[in-house]
Amino acid sequence: MSDHMTSDEFRRHGHEMIEWIARYMEEVERYPVRSRAEPGDIFRALPPAPPDTGEPFEDVMRDVERILMPGITHWQSPNFFAYFPANSSGSGILGELLSAGLGVQGMSWLTSPACTELEMRVLDWCVELLDLPRAFLSGAGTGSGAGTHAGGGVIQDSASSATLCAILAARERALDGLGGADQSGLPRGAAARKLVAYASTESHSSVLKGMRIAGFDDTQLRQIAVDDTFAMRADRLAEAIQDDTRAGRIPFFVCATVGTTSSNAMDPLAAISEVLHLTALARQAPGHASAWLHVDAAMSGTAAVCPEFRGMHNGLEHADSYCFNPHKWMFTNFDCDCFFVRDREWLVRALAIEPEYLRTGASGVVNYRDWQIPLGRRFRSLKLWFVLRHYGVRGLQRRIREHVALAQEFASWVDASAEWELLAPHPLNLVCFAHRDGNERTRAILEAVNASGGLFATHTVLGPGAAGSAGRFAIRLCVGQTYTQRSHVEAAWTAFRQAADAPAES
Ligand SMILES: *Cc1c(COP(=O)(O)O)cnc(C)c1O
Repeated sequence: MSDHMTSDEFRRHGHEMIEWIARYMEEVERYPVRSRAEPGDIFRALPPAPPDTGEPFEDVMRDVERILMPGITHWQSPNFFAYFPANSSGSGILGELLSAGLGVQGMSWLTSPACTELEMRVLDWCVELLDLPRAFLSGAGTGSGAGTHAGGGVIQDSASSATLCAILAARERALDGLGGADQSGLPRGAAARKLVAYASTESHSSVLKGMRIAGFDDTQLRQIAVDDTFAMRADRLAEAIQDDTRAGRIPFFVCATVGTTSSNAMDPLAAISEVLHLTALARQAPGHASAWLHVDAAMSGTAAVCPEFRGMHNGLEHADSYCFNPHKWMFTNFDCDCFFVRDREWLVRALAIEPEYLRTGASGVVNYRDWQIPLGRRFRSLKLWFVLRHYGVRGLQRRIREHVALAQEFASWVDASAEWELLAPHPLNLVCFAHRDGNERTRAILEAVNASGGLFATHTVLGPGAAGSAGRFAIRLCVGQTYTQRSHVEAAWTAFRQAADAPAES
């Protein structure tokens, strides 16, 4: 008897598994959206040690249903409005399955040429799809592009990794600018201590995390104030850069956000890049004068599949790097972040190390291990390719327009109501709103609605207001799950209003 699953067993269980997933997709709406498990419930229900001898597949699946399902929060429920979507689709799931079936490790071009070249092509497709700057195209494919100052895209596991890679590439470029013989001549470590980065107070936590991982001190990240739409103030950025420059520090990195996580604020890319250009000129810095501009469009970038939402990208032509997550709002299973650079040189210089055992002799090819933190990499472009081919540009546009229209309709209901109010602009699929009775009431309503299991939404705090007053507690309703329809958004509005009408618990 073989210890391995035979191909016949695999075929049978595989069919059962697809059937199980299809049924889950059909029935996911029936589960309470947010898991009701208490801390430790799932852990305690699982045995402390692995089985001595192998168990039947059916037994494993029985425990999936019995033990794990109560601990699942249903991100794929059409009533999931929390955080941001991590949506999926039939085509994405099947692409993911095929990737597992092929079991490719695509660290170098040679370890699977299709893994590298499909990824290059699909990332170029995304440049077309979102109408991104042509400088982000990988250019001539294999051959002429590599080694020259050409751009390109690469799939990262997450926007957090993309931001970290952008920080590392930016540092490489900044230190290169300082390192020439006739320039400051500081050793790398001392020069790095003079570098300063900038992001708005509303930027994602991954910027600070990336700075820490890269070895910077927290004081080397300046948090720039936002305006009343929660977007970065370019004038405050200019002041901060001028102050730092006067003090002998070196601005090297700016992260702008297109669609902040908290409230979907849009940093003004054109004004920010103008500031970078002017302050670099004023500084008469040697070498590569301007700070690296990275644009984080993790969720909202997907909206650019529709021409009418591309205004948020005005000024993107000046960015050095950009990322968006098909694993949030583009029907592609987690994980899949698309990261683009204008000049791959700095990324590769920061990350390429070639020990003897990885030398392949293949020249003029892209080795994506040099574009990311880990060595190994999954064949993630498959699922994105499946999704793009299944939906086509028009199919994606239809779905994204529908989500945006639903969020806008929800916002109009809030706006028209005497008891509720909007707390932030709602350019796309995220609505921040509150009960007019204030923070405590709003928080209680959200908790009651989530406890009912009918939907799941989360909160943020916007503000703070004048003179140290507390910020406003806002419910965030983010529309983006694959199967969310008008009926779900309507039911959500009803649930919030009913919770507000219910007598307060004492
Ligand atoms: C969700 C989000 C992130 C983090 O995304 P990961 O891919 O999970 O790292 C970063 N930035 C913004 C603006 C986001 O919305």
